[in-house]
Amino acid sequence: MNKIGMPRGLFYYYYYPLYKTFFSDLDARVILSQKTTRITIDQGIDAAVDETCFPIKVYFGHVKELCRYDLDYLFVPRLVSIEPRSYICPKFMGVPDMLRASIDNLPPLIDITVDLSRSDRVYKDQLFKTGKLFTKKTGRIKDAYEHGKQELAYCQAIAAQGYTMAEAIDIWQGEDIEQQLNGSLRIGVLGHGYSLYDEAISMNIISRLRQMGCTVVLPEALSLEEIEQEAATMPKRIFWTLGRKMVGSALKMEKMADIDGIIYVACFGCGPDSFIGEIIERKVSDKAYMLIIIDEHTGEGGLVTRLEAFCDMLKRRRRHKIEDYISAYG
Ligand code: SF4
Repeated sequence: MNKIGMPRGLFYYYYYPLYKTFFSDLDARVILSQKTTRITIDQGIDAAVDETCFPIKVYFGHVKELCRYDLDYLFVPRLVSIEPRSYICPKFMGVPDMLRASIDNLPPLIDITVDLSRSDRVYKDQLFKTGKLFTKKTGRIKDAYEHGKQELAYCQAIAAQGYTMAEAIDIWQGEDIEQQLNGSLRIGVLGHGYSLYDEAISMNIISRLRQMGCTVVLPEALSLEEIEQEAATMPKRIFWTLGRKMVGSALKMEKMADIDGIIYVACFGCGPDSFIGEIIERKVSDKAYMLIIIDEHTGEGGLVTRLEAFCDMLKRRRRHKIEDYISAYG
């Protein structure tokens, strides 16, 4: 049985169920790297060039871990675009080349190009060629891909119930995770999935907020149509897929009466985040908003203090709102 390594980073948080199912149905064994630890981060920092952003460095750490196993292939898709007329950050495009240039003992890479900006023909062609590494039967490859898409849709439906994508993937794999939707404050939390849902990168921001008595509302819990509708109110179309999702989600959350405040988690060194965070800050005027920029040097103490202060401020605002409605005559 062929062994395929998959790094637990970047688009793992959006597409793992699809590719895991695809390869498993073709009788390949998928080996996933462990959850991110300080060792993963340090290995990634050592291997990656300084100019890349934090999530890419962490991805390198995951690849380094997988290089220790005896793998037949390493699956590192070259993501260009995942939907028509929109693009993924160009750093994704260069990941397979950067890995080849920086890490010596890499297993053979499966680096299919995912570019759906104009059509899905090239992507499907490459996926079928990949499938041919494991079986000669075209029908089997097609079925594996269709099955993968169904599993991904199922996992997304789990996330829509209020789980993070990381939790949804764990539930999809059979784990039991309790839903935490009873917090006294409701906070919208935004960020690219690979930084927000990786507990080491985001320094557990979602669990910390839940421990502080907040219910966290994530973009995956909003409908795609609503997000696109809100994003379409911008004077110019945002052609970065994730950036548009963030802006649309923030504008939608601003209109949701039950949301008390919005937090945007951005990564230091991220080009798109540097202006998407700014756009959201300017547009969201009716809700409390906090931008948190993280990198490998961010300290936990400072983060916790900021989160506590934000929650205290939201509680005070709520109290004042209630007091404002008390009649002066009792
Ligand atoms: S969008 Fe930002 S965080 Fe994501 S890969 Fe690009 S530079 Fe890094």
